Amino acid sequence: MRYAPLMTREPRLFGAVEAGGTKFVCAIGNERGDILAQQRFPTTDPAATLGATHAFLRDHGRSLGSLAAIGVASFGPVELDKSSPRYGFIGLTPKAGWSGTDIAGSLTRALRVPVGFDTDVNAAALAEHRWGAGRDVRNLVYLTIGTGIGGGVLVDGAPIHGLMHPEIGHVYPRRHPLDSGFAGVCPFHGDCLEGVASGPAILARAGASLNLLDESHSQWHIEADYLGQLCATLVVTVSPQRIILGGGVMNQRRLLPLIRRRLQHWLGGYIDRSEILADIDRYVVAAELGDNAGVLGALALAAAAVHPAER
Ligand code: ZN
Repeated sequence: MRYAPLMTREPRLFGAVEAGGTKFVCAIGNERGDILAQQRFPTTDPAATLGATHAFLRDHGRSLGSLAAIGVASFGPVELDKSSPRYGFIGLTPKAGWSGTDIAGSLTRALRVPVGFDTDVNAAALAEHRWGAGRDVRNLVYLTIGTGIGGGVLVDGAPIHGLMHPEIGHVYPRRHPLDSGFAGVCPFHGDCLEGVASGPAILARAGASLNLLDESHSQWHIEADYLGQLCATLVVTVSPQRIILGGGVMNQRRLLPLIRRRLQHWLGGYIDRSEILADIDRYVVAAELGDNAGVLGALALAAAAVHPAER
């Protein structure tokens, strides 16, 4: 008996939805991470936005071939407990009209295929694992440093959920000596990590974003110190094999070597591993998927929905 080689079949098609607070990006892609069609539209009220999402997936799914699954990388908060009647719902959000919206259920009912659903950062972590900077490890943390600070943690290739999902940006850092007078911008905590190291925090403290500040400006060192502390906290709590940094602030690549040095400083020689010492350039790395992280994250969720073992 002869068997066809596994990869000669056509790659499976998936629908992908990056559900953001300001825009939705819908796409059709395949399991190799190729995007075949894409459309973006502003996030308005749930009925109109989800209606446009359903229409895109239905129409393009029809013209390109049938969809094996759909993935939704959503803004939060979201319910991820599959035993909850509110699984796949948006939780309490200041985004008008969206609290209690059943995103995953509405897609399941409209398209009648499996729907993978997770936070946007967990999805981006999965995408970096499948197609980006985390392909060769199974335990990683993906951090996004931008308007806010968020993180997805993969353990053995799957995102941690638990009580809900990690909210890594809201740990409290030790304050930098040059930053002791800054109250921080987090509406809940003031000077949590997000409150002192997100894009808006830099703007509030320095009056300008990093790219407009001279290399010698203390802001670079303050920022790198806080992110180095965050990485050190992650090393000693979840023991990742890699830390991947993305988001708008990390477009300033000069930060990367500074963060690595501060990570080593904060670990204080306690973690005696070559990954943290000689090979740190391969341990703390830049995200590779850039602006595509959201939609590729949704694609990765769809792929995981049909075959969790392939994560
Ligand atoms: Zn906070």
